[in-house]
Formats: sequence, structure tokens, C-alpha cells
Amino acid sequence: MQPLPNTTCPLCGGSNQCTPANTGRFDPECWCTKAAISPEALAKIPPELVNQACLCPRCAAGLPPVMPHSEL
Ligand SMILES: [Zn+2]
Repeated sequence: MQPLPNTTCPLCGGSNQCTPANTGRFDPECWCTKAAISPEALAKIPPELVNQACLCPRCAAGLPPVMPHSEL
């Protein structure tokens, strides 16, 4: 089984920094193996993308996505 080459976060569209997605291998350790993923973040992932793409570290931690064009 090959890792999916999905290198973007399904919540914010930013880089998820997923090591398997970037290298095509599961053996290099990924940051997500040590991170605690926020249940709120998991609940927001579109169903078709669950288990298809890694979250980025920011979304995984439950922080709001970085919005470069925010009107705030
Ligand atoms: Zn994200």
C-alpha cells in the first residue's frame, strides 16, 4: 500500500507537511504520529477526505486556519 500524495490540508488548503505524502513512503516518521489531533478539527474534515489527506499542524491543533485574505 502506497501513501496518498495528498500534501495539502483538507481544512485550510495549506501544506500539511505530511512526510509519507511527500516521500511516498511510510517509514520516515511524520509529525502527526506524535501530535494530538483536535476532535473538532477531525469533525470538520469533509467525509470524502477523511483518511485521504493529513491535516496541517495548525488545523490539527484546533487553531483557526491562516487566512491570507482575511478582512479582519
Ligand atoms: Zn490546515
